[in-house]
Amino acid sequence: MNNLIDSHVNFGHELLKNSVSDICKEALENNIERILSINSNIFEFQKDINLIKDFNFVDITLGHHPNNTLNTNAEEIKRLLNENIKKFEDRIVGIGETGLDYHYNIPKNKQIECFKAHLDVASAHNLPCVIHMRDAETDMIEILSEYSKKLGKILIHCFTGSEEFAEKCIDLDCFFSLSGIITFKNASKLRETIKILPLERIIFETDSPYLTPDPYRGKVNKPGYLKIIIEKYCEITGNDYLTTSKISTNNYKKLFKINV
Ligand SMILES: [Zn+2]
Repeated sequence: MNNLIDSHVNFGHELLKNSVSDICKEALENNIERILSINSNIFEFQKDINLIKDFNFVDITLGHHPNNTLNTNAEEIKRLLNENIKKFEDRIVGIGETGLDYHYNIPKNKQIECFKAHLDVASAHNLPCVIHMRDAETDMIEILSEYSKKLGKILIHCFTGSEEFAEKCIDLDCFFSLSGIITFKNASKLRETIKILPLERIIFETDSPYLTPDPYRGKVNKPGYLKIIIEKYCEITGNDYLTTSKISTNNYKKLFKINV
């Protein structure tokens, strides 16, 4: 049996939070072996961990999304990260999602301050980082380069960057996760770019409930759709489906230090 991993599910989202057990059941029926539940509002981490605590095949991250940084600061982020790591270290596999998003008008200095707070704590605890990057390639590379010596493994989640950004991230030993965006009709440039990413650095995600892959756009996304994304990746790159599934699953386990 060939087992897949969905490396980004937002179980805390309104559209998913009341059906976690159904989603998990359907995921298992669709050859999903593990799921990574993403915390993107650190003030709701307790709620997020309660949703998944009975599901041993669900891992969880701890972090505060750049779009949520308006009402907090680096000091508070550091305190909440450290407190929760201490309390839930047996379940937390990584820090994030964190990062930079210049698409909306959240002040850059606020985002950078909070992002660096995550990187400091991740470095201190040797935890991998799940990173969100939108329209912020230059600052992202600058900050990751600054931290690269002390920081553990880095995952650029829902990769949509330029070829130049991809090359710099490869040099920084980053991993990349690919989402349903690679199936979108208007994503032909991205489909070209992902050809340069080494398979040894690739994992897959649905980002449920967002980014539903073609041909299901308009519906709520779910881990059960993950195989569509992997099939599309194989069609684009010419890689074999079974090999890709196996390698990407191993990549996830290496990245998040999962020993099962
Ligand atoms: Zn994101």
